[in-house]
Amino acid sequence: MKDFARLVKLMAPHWKSMLLATLLGFFTVGSGAGLLGASAFLISGAALHPPVLELMQAIVGVRFFGISRAVFRYLERYFSHDATFRLLSHIRVWFYQALEPLAPARLMEYRSGELVSRMAADVETLEQFYLRVLAPPLVALLTLFGVFAFLARFGLGPAFVFLFFFLAAAAAAPLAVRALGRGGGGLLGETRAALNTQMVDTIQGMTEIAAFNLSARQQRQVGELSEKFLGLQERAAGIRSLSSALAGLLMNLAMWSILLLAIPLVTRGDLDGIYLAVLALVTLGGFEAVLPLPMVFQHIEESLAAARRLFAVIDAKPAVPEPPAPSPKLRGYDLRVRGLSFSYAPGEPRALDGLDFALPRGGRLAVVGPSGAGKSTLVNLLLRFWDYREGSISLGGQELKAFPPEELRRHISVVTQNTYLFNASVRENLLLAKPGAGEKELLRAAREAQIHDFIQGLPRGYDTPVGERGFKLSGGQRQRLAIARALLKNSPVLLLDEATAGLDPVTGRKVMESVSRLMEGRTTVAITHDLTGLEGMDEILVMDRGRVAERGRHSELLEKGGLYRKMWELQNI
Ligand code: ADP
Repeated sequence: MKDFARLVKLMAPHWKSMLLATLLGFFTVGSGAGLLGASAFLISGAALHPPVLELMQAIVGVRFFGISRAVFRYLERYFSHDATFRLLSHIRVWFYQALEPLAPARLMEYRSGELVSRMAADVETLEQFYLRVLAPPLVALLTLFGVFAFLARFGLGPAFVFLFFFLAAAAAAPLAVRALGRGGGGLLGETRAALNTQMVDTIQGMTEIAAFNLSARQQRQVGELSEKFLGLQERAAGIRSLSSALAGLLMNLAMWSILLLAIPLVTRGDLDGIYLAVLALVTLGGFEAVLPLPMVFQHIEESLAAARRLFAVIDAKPAVPEPPAPSPKLRGYDLRVRGLSFSYAPGEPRALDGLDFALPRGGRLAVVGPSGAGKSTLVNLLLRFWDYREGSISLGGQELKAFPPEELRRHISVVTQNTYLFNASVRENLLLAKPGAGEKELLRAAREAQIHDFIQGLPRGYDTPVGERGFKLSGGQRQRLAIARALLKNSPVLLLDEATAGLDPVTGRKVMESVSRLMEGRTTVAITHDLTGLEGMDEILVMDRGRVAERGRHSELLEKGGLYRKMWELQNI
């Protein structure tokens, strides 16, 4: 019930267009019933051969309802879909906004395919919530009042017979269908989500699947899920057919019962015979509002399951709490870390244990160490992806916790090993760093990153699309684009996270040259396991299992003959 209320609240901003669409839905059904009634009246009346003038009213009625039904149907479709699509885009934005603060710490539990599926399929499922869950009962209720009031004018008997069968079709049939299909709606959504996840995974991992000969296994898994999905869909379709058959049965029973009741009224002279067919056909017309009701429960179940999946993602608390307002102004760019300890979860071993360093503005610090030493953890904390509890990190003398993470990140450029390039042009990918940058600025950054000539040589220069994740570029070119981005962003603090890892030594060295240019005048923390080019660093921290094992400049550390020396020798045999 809580989720239901939450979902309704989510739709609340669109209540006006929804109300309008609901009223139009009622007018459509009303016009349908009116058309049947007016036609019945006209035909019955005409059978008695009255002067045509006496039939005029009925003829106008038939014309009016015939046209109004089509017009109302069109308007109802128009407004209900307009409301639905607005709602969907509202939900998508809402979900994305809620998702963003959770990245990356809280989203690591989800496979990317799963998130895509939640974002696409579950949001789409919610489309039904208004169209198939909220609107039909309201239209049915209004129709019930309207037709009941109409029939009551001719006699309470037919009106109550209508009420009885209408309620049976509106409530009892859906409940029976619900009992049959219990759990089906939720399971259908879950299976659809699992299938989507599997498909996205399969497509993203195509190369690995082919290389390891896993296609048969993958096909079997997708096949099994499809089979299950198909089975559930068949079951849902079976229930749907049963429900419409049941509603049809009740509708016809209502009509016959009203006829059986009304015929004695006519023979007794209490009812003009001309109205007999009118009563029967208006009853039939009114039932149009009932037909979608049996499926309401199934759609409720599906919508709620989808909503629950969305809520589950965004209800995770962001890893980093919002700082107390108002946030102070950043006063300087010297970085100090004192007694910094961190573990990813309570009880887990410390990824960082009592880290200390001070870096003046424009200073350069390298953090090296074997894998698992805690280097990336330091980056995660500096970028406020995770919150730290023990120790302190300050920038310009102020604790990082005092700033909203986005504000802080405006002052920090990051070049990581896995530069993400969007499936857009080179220009658009560069402008990401500074959307308002002019052409001159863009070219200067690209030249400094030594990528300008390469871009110029591309078929469409800066407007060449880079392909998904930049697959049309080599690793070195991607890194240079990342450096150009950082140059463009021009922020005073620079984080390099294995910026040259994965590149061959020659390319790596060349990229390093561009990186050196980037470091000029910036407070830099460089994480690396490659020990080349560290001579220019002001201090090197050699980390091992979360602790600083050694510290000093390159030459001092070599002389010491400790871990650094060992790593150096290993890399330079
Ligand atoms: P490095 O970057 O030096 O290779 P990391 O900072 O990635 O080391 O890892 C330090 C320790 O923290 C490792 O023991 C690693 O298993 C653990 N760790 C890293 N990331 C996570 C995470 N997201 N959740 C839990 N533990 C993690």
